[in-house]
Amino acid sequence: MIAEILSVGTELLLGEVTDTNAAFLSRQLSEMGIDVFFRETVGDNADRLEETIRRALGHADLVLITGGLGPTMDDITRECTAHVLGLELAEDKPSADAIRGRYDSQKMEIPSHALKQAYVPEGSTVFFNTRGTAPGSATEKGGKTVIVLPGPPHEMQEMFLRSVRPYLRECSAETIHSRVLRVFGIGEPSLEDRIADILKEQTNPMVGIYVGFGEIRIRISAKSASEEEAERMIGPVADELYRRLGTLIYAEGDTSMEACVADMLIKSGRTVSFAESCTGGMIASSLVAFPGISAALTESHVTYSNEAKMRTLGVRKETLEAYGAVSAQTAEEMAAGLRERSGADMALSVTGIAGPDGGTPEKPVGTVWMGFCDENGVTSTCFLFGGDRNRVRRMTMLNALNRIRCALIGKDR
Ligand code: ATP
Ligand code: MG
Repeated sequence: MIAEILSVGTELLLGEVTDTNAAFLSRQLSEMGIDVFFRETVGDNADRLEETIRRALGHADLVLITGGLGPTMDDITRECTAHVLGLELAEDKPSADAIRGRYDSQKMEIPSHALKQAYVPEGSTVFFNTRGTAPGSATEKGGKTVIVLPGPPHEMQEMFLRSVRPYLRECSAETIHSRVLRVFGIGEPSLEDRIADILKEQTNPMVGIYVGFGEIRIRISAKSASEEEAERMIGPVADELYRRLGTLIYAEGDTSMEACVADMLIKSGRTVSFAESCTGGMIASSLVAFPGISAALTESHVTYSNEAKMRTLGVRKETLEAYGAVSAQTAEEMAAGLRERSGADMALSVTGIAGPDGGTPEKPVGTVWMGFCDENGVTSTCFLFGGDRNRVRRMTMLNALNRIRCALIGKDR
């Protein structure tokens, strides 16, 4: 099934409101295996809206329209939709009763235009609005379907998930199911090189890669008649991806790096401590979000100044003077000193330049050294992250967690 999304509202064309509805619907439809080839935005103008609906019906089997269902003069979506389809508007009694009930309960007289919202093109399937007044509708005509939804995102999303999704599932015999593998520690070009043949050759299941924050997601999605069949189709492709990427895949689905590492740490029976400079406690904080982490996390020190690095971790003054705070030597002394003092099985340190100031040609903004110490000794790694201060800090945090993950699975890094 091919769908087209129309966003209605002059405020969208003026850039006053960002069109999040279209993004939401695109995501939902793609998950359902419905292709979206075009999206369009049109202002609150009847001629242009009708022309846009007609054009969309020329391209697509399904047209989804959001916005312009309110009670005011500029809300014209229902009238335009009915006009294009050659249908009259008819009152939806439950919606009209709900609107009357609202005014009655506040002992207010009902304004004449309020009930306009209860009208839908005749013969439509009506989607009740639990968060607002205007119902949505689906109208089928000549083998095509037009779905109209309210503009406010919280009303539209609730209505879509509760009513429209089941409605669409009924219309299409096929469903789509996906499995998402989450990959960390490899760039997009190298990943593509390793799995280029799979990306190119697979059509059902289809394999796609999406760059997220610090990670890449590989989505394997299969179109089939049932969920079981989809899983049978996805299985061998996932196995092959695991064979090629191994522990670069850290988790699946909604499991974040933070959740994955917290869970691994709790189950491992090992303890960890942190010495954080540029992250300012972010690494520990990301783990403390998970209950039970006290079994693994002993402490985290925010050692921001050179003085604190010496006093709290035992970093030598000579090291700081000779190599600077952002160096392999300092990162290693931080980690080694921390492990000794905390008694934790693993100690991890970070020291870096988050910016925007403080960079030099040798150590530009975004340079981060990470030290790691366990029973096998101490090592350090240098990273260079792009982006603003917050991005550098978050990337440092994720890479620190990944370092712990690698240590727990016995991988060098
Ligand atoms: P209302 O009954 O509130 O008038 P409506 O269905 O007529 O609802 P609009 O008037 O088009 O919808 O929009 C109402 C509000 O919803 C807008 O002010 C805007 O903030 C938000 N909105 C509308 N369309 C979108 C969109 N595509 N993306 C994000 N927000 C939107
Ligand atoms: Mg409106």
